[in-house]
Amino acid sequence: MTVAVPRISVAALPRVVGSTLRVPLVTGERVEYANLDHAASAPCLEQVRDAVDELLPWYASVHRGAGFASQVSTKVYEQARTSVRRFLGARDTDAVVFTRNTTDALNLLARSVPKHTAVILFDTEHHAALLPWRGPNVRRLRTPASPATAVLDLDRALREAPVGPRLVVVTGASNVTGEVWPVAELARVARRHGARIALDAAQLAPHRPVDVRALDVDYTVLSGHKIYAPFGSGVLVGRSDWLQAAEPYLVGGGATSRVTDHGDRLGVAWSAVPERHEAGTPNVVGVHALAVACDVLGRSWEQTVEHERALLARLRAGLATVPGVHELALFGAEHDRVGVVSFTAGGQDVGYLAAALSAEHGIGVRDGAFCAHIAVHRLAHGERALRASIGLGTTEEHVDRFVAALRTLVTEGS
Ligand code: PLP
Repeated sequence: MTVAVPRISVAALPRVVGSTLRVPLVTGERVEYANLDHAASAPCLEQVRDAVDELLPWYASVHRGAGFASQVSTKVYEQARTSVRRFLGARDTDAVVFTRNTTDALNLLARSVPKHTAVILFDTEHHAALLPWRGPNVRRLRTPASPATAVLDLDRALREAPVGPRLVVVTGASNVTGEVWPVAELARVARRHGARIALDAAQLAPHRPVDVRALDVDYTVLSGHKIYAPFGSGVLVGRSDWLQAAEPYLVGGGATSRVTDHGDRLGVAWSAVPERHEAGTPNVVGVHALAVACDVLGRSWEQTVEHERALLARLRAGLATVPGVHELALFGAEHDRVGVVSFTAGGQDVGYLAAALSAEHGIGVRDGAFCAHIAVHRLAHGERALRASIGLGTTEEHVDRFVAALRTLVTEGS
């Protein structure tokens, strides 16, 4: 008698929409689209599409109407906070503020920290995490060649930081190299020095479970469109005191509990968190999509991580065989990474390569500096790079087709 060994079947993976899309090539032929640009925006999950479809007849303005549709929308919107909280393992006391995306969430946090907060971050961050912090209290550390040195450098910077509120901002996984940052270790150092730490999980959350309490981070941000929900929703999760004390940076309806006329001035009482920072009619459909994506991903980590681990190994092994390809890495080729690989191609024009991969082979990748100019400039020695990123919509055939197409193009161009 043979014993059936349980296997993780591909069918158990969450499925994305558009996996059978065919796109035209310059020749007029149509081929299945190979989307290797998950890091920019991941395709929508089928379950997310279905959930959005179900909500569409019921969408109405939340918190503002007594009608049935409004009640349904309000309930869905508020339940979404529970899904996000569960997905991130957030503390019961953490605020869950819905935003447009990660960029919006980080700007909100930057506007909400107490005056004179010392902010420390590494210089290879995505611009969304790098740019909201300006002024004399911001210290940008040069990203070192190893995670252990990053921890030591942060320790030193915090020793030197002025007394007062301090915030460390760190990415979970680089959108350039996919490398996973030592978040728990950095959080431990931050804690030792009485600093708070904010995690940019935009690139980590689609690929690995993020456990806010285990990592001991104070704030976490992410975007719906990177975790397989459509555009327009993101979230800031974290300690509510600074958010509660801050004036909203976007003002309007919903952010106020009372407005009174005092002749030459208005009296405004701001709402409590989270509404305080959610002015205007919220994106209930986008938030629902984000929440369902959280629920689906949260139930399938084992399959997702295994699927991506195998495909990433295949992708990197394939790229290593293409002449002139040089993979970018902050911490070295052996360091843990999610499904994102950037590389240069022996001086060949990556813009041309990306265009040709699309037009001649039906493959979508990204070229340029990926909103992380300092990282790409440093790692690619002034060149631009090509980025292939994988996820739930990726198959072995996509990876193999990409490697073969790249080899053909690079060989033709040399
Ligand atoms: N942080 C990282 C690491 C990212 O990769 C991105 C997007 O690529 C962002 C932040 C910004 O995300 P969004 O454009 O959704 O605001």
